[in-house]
Amino acid sequence: MTEQFQAKTDENYFLKAEGLTMHFPAASDALGRPTSWIHAADDVSFAVPKGKTLGVVGESGCGKSTVGKMLLDIYRPTGGKIFYEGKDITALSPKERRPYVKKMQLVWQDPYSSLDPRLRAGDIIAEPIDNFRLAANRAERAEKVERLMQMCGLYPEMATHYPHQFSGGQRQRICIARALATDPEFVVCDEAVSALDVSIQAQIINLLKDLQDELRLTYLFISHDLNIVHFISDEIIVMYLGQIVERGTMETVYRNRAHPYTKALFSATPAFTAAEKQKKQRILLEGDVPSPVDPPKGCRFRGRCPYADKRCEEEPQWHAVEDNHFVKCRLFD
Ligand code: SF4
Repeated sequence: MTEQFQAKTDENYFLKAEGLTMHFPAASDALGRPTSWIHAADDVSFAVPKGKTLGVVGESGCGKSTVGKMLLDIYRPTGGKIFYEGKDITALSPKERRPYVKKMQLVWQDPYSSLDPRLRAGDIIAEPIDNFRLAANRAERAEKVERLMQMCGLYPEMATHYPHQFSGGQRQRICIARALATDPEFVVCDEAVSALDVSIQAQIINLLKDLQDELRLTYLFISHDLNIVHFISDEIIVMYLGQIVERGTMETVYRNRAHPYTKALFSATPAFTAAEKQKKQRILLEGDVPSPVDPPKGCRFRGRCPYADKRCEEEPQWHAVEDNHFVKCRLFD
């Protein structure tokens, strides 16, 4: 079944991760040699089709952001491969990787800290244009900035304003405009709306969706907010302690959650209707997430899983729950 799971990730993809692994040294001996490792991500495999959104969910510290940072070359993976339209970009030198870096951008979590308060909005948006020399002269630069601001719902005359003169939502629009300045094809949105008020969140999500349709962007959408992920994503991966435990199309996973961890995670989302409230049963997990330093052998969730038994001390296999829906749990053996 692992082969079948892998084969699914190979079909029709734009960006593919194969066995991505990231271990950071946790402690070292007197000679500076690592003696233990933080397993931030282990054997993470997925594929995102062109123009679609892959949602990544899981508790804080599960490795979601680490995966995004490996794709963007902020972290060099300690194992595994990244394929961009079939090309293995993992082992490229920084110079060879540069054209791909240009096509892959990031929208950060916090629009307050990610904007330099001393720069005007127009110069912030133009930073990537300058870095990659994408404008022949100042007039072309200004024209590009104006177009990006309009695309992101900002007035061009705001280009001379400083970050503190904008609202939270407008600042996130500046961040998105800056991310789009290199004409990217792939955007990692890392908790991109988490710092915003709920009403503003909806506006930014709608903007991201409109831009995706217009520019055929592919998104990796990392969030702890399952309702937002449900709204924006075509496919989803659920991560626990550095590993994927469930993967599928958004609708199959949402309708038919299979992994005990996914069930607990979704049970914590707020219900909006009286019927939903009545149906909803909160699954409370006991214990804390174990340390990512030397994580438990076998199923990493077994210390908190209500169904755990002796068999869970072995590494669980991948199983197909239905078409385009996979789970890593021995309950499906
Ligand atoms: Fe629970 Fe065992 Fe399944 Fe892990 S493999 S989720 S411990 S039943």
